[in-house]
Amino acid sequence: MRKRKFRLMRRRIAAGNWKMNKKKAEALELANTLAQSSLPGDVDVILGVPSLYLEGVQNAVHGSTIQVAAQNCHQEDFGAYTGEISAPMLASINVAWVIIGHSERRQYFAEDNALLAKKVDKALEHNLRPIFCCGEPLNIREKGNHVDFVKTQLQESLFHLDVKSFGRLVIAYEPIWAIGTGVTASPEQAQDMHREIRSMITNQYDSTLSEAIQILYGGSVKPANARILFDQPDVDGGLVGGASLKSGDFLDIINA
Ligand code: PEP
Repeated sequence: MRKRKFRLMRRRIAAGNWKMNKKKAEALELANTLAQSSLPGDVDVILGVPSLYLEGVQNAVHGSTIQVAAQNCHQEDFGAYTGEISAPMLASINVAWVIIGHSERRQYFAEDNALLAKKVDKALEHNLRPIFCCGEPLNIREKGNHVDFVKTQLQESLFHLDVKSFGRLVIAYEPIWAIGTGVTASPEQAQDMHREIRSMITNQYDSTLSEAIQILYGGSVKPANARILFDQPDVDGGLVGGASLKSGDFLDIINA
């Protein structure tokens, strides 16, 4: 009964990560189509869009329930960091969410756990809600070390937070071997890791917090596999890359 109560407390989230895709007109067309669609009332829909289109997409979805996320922010407020975008800049245009620690940022931009801790702090300082990504590469999964790997990511980037700050996070478990590969974690693999993450949070904080935190699964979520993944008791929705670029597919996933 207790578990069920917590499950009901956690709202579902369908978050899209557009990555570095779409020209402006295409981005606005996708946002407009989603905004004009009828969306389920019990799902929060968040679009992670390229920074250049944040305000345009905000305008396009104005009046709908869709929210907008940045895909990254810098760890400093302002300064000589050519090409970067900071948390206070995002806050100044009323962006509510920011994706932090995506595996592509870790891989191609050398973002490590210590740096990501600073980014999380900076986002929270400016009242942005981080969608914090974690997840193991294939070789770690094959050695059976995936739980320890994710635990280290959380320990080094998140476990310095106090309970109140931690409660502002959404966590996205994204096994790297499933991102953009067409290979999806099985529902059991996703559920097992989500349950492990919840128990790590219980051990570090308490079960009230761990049962309240929304944990999303990401990695080749498609209309065909979304429902079975989202049916898992500890999976609270998805962070969706490729399939969020097509309105029909993303709507099917939202409705799943
Ligand atoms: C992602 O980039 O966060 C992601 C999960 O991508 P895809 O759905 O394409 O695997």
